[in-house]
Amino acid sequence: MKIPSKKVVALFCLIVLVVAGAVLCHRPDPVEKSAYIMGTLVRVRAWGAGADRAVPEALERLSALEQALSANLEDSDVARVNRAGGRGVSVSSATGDLLGEALRFAGLSGGAFDPTVGALVDLWGIGTEQARVPGDEEILSALERVDWHGVRLFDGNEVRLEAGQQLDLGGIAKGYAADVLRDQLKREGIRSGLIDLGGNILVFGENPRGGKWRIGVQDPIQSRGGVLGVVELREGSVVTSGTYERFFERDGVRYHHILDPATGRPARSGLLAVTVVSPGSLEGDALTTALFVMGLDLGIALVNGLEGVEALFVTEDGRVVLSPGLEGRFTLQGEGYRLETR
Ligand code: AMP
Ligand code: MG
Repeated sequence: MKIPSKKVVALFCLIVLVVAGAVLCHRPDPVEKSAYIMGTLVRVRAWGAGADRAVPEALERLSALEQALSANLEDSDVARVNRAGGRGVSVSSATGDLLGEALRFAGLSGGAFDPTVGALVDLWGIGTEQARVPGDEEILSALERVDWHGVRLFDGNEVRLEAGQQLDLGGIAKGYAADVLRDQLKREGIRSGLIDLGGNILVFGENPRGGKWRIGVQDPIQSRGGVLGVVELREGSVVTSGTYERFFERDGVRYHHILDPATGRPARSGLLAVTVVSPGSLEGDALTTALFVMGLDLGIALVNGLEGVEALFVTEDGRVVLSPGLEGRFTLQGEGYRLETR
């Protein structure tokens, strides 16, 4: 047998190295699509075979969820329940499941999260052309129609409210939808993905770009896009609720969209924003809204009693307070803040 010359061996080795390097360093481009759904800019990014089909299907699924869950769409499950004036209405099992979860978080948060805030949401109209500061009488009369204990859920899919009550699942629907989309993408064989529903972020699978996922958290006092800091995680959800999302200003006061079911007004709990890091996005979404209303002391106590859930609170007096599990996983970038752990 002819022994290959040194040059041929060297060339062969070089080719092996180049091919191996290309395979190891190959970072396939994801498939990414954006759309405006559920009142927000949605972005779905997926890596893996089948992503070309799975990503548009995920956006279609999201539109279908919006059709069922939006209080503003006439034929939605929520709108039908709200029009029924205290009579029972049958809803899809998905809506029933979500409502069950909403009621669970209402109990867990002592009513700070309340899916029957609809009458107050309508009254204030925050984020709509009709936004205004209502009179005390109006607020009191809307408050009489807010109480999650009035919701009855039979057999998982028949819903009945007290007469006059109005459901609003806006504080939990995006988180629920993100979980549904993740499960669907995984079933379609997607290895890794990122679901961004207007800043509600859910990531799954390994980060194809290497290392952990790094998720930016919005700085509540900078205009959109300003970063407060970065959370690192292997997979899971990062959801933020804050006063910067939807609000109007009158006479120097900011009226934002997170309402306190105890007062009937935008929550004034000393916070500007709350971020929750959790395995699932439904719990993250429900909890950010609840924790914002509860404020730092009650909120951190609730979080520290929940397995696998971490939170970050931004206070009006310039502190960023982390639950212990976020220490070392959050890097502060915003200027003028003091970082604490509790
Ligand atoms: P989020 O941005 O997740 O905090 O949700 C805010 C949205 O949830 C509002 O636009 C309302 O539709 C609804 N909402 C406001 N206050 C509450 C509350 N205390 N409990 C449940 N939902 C609320
Ligand atoms: Mg929420």
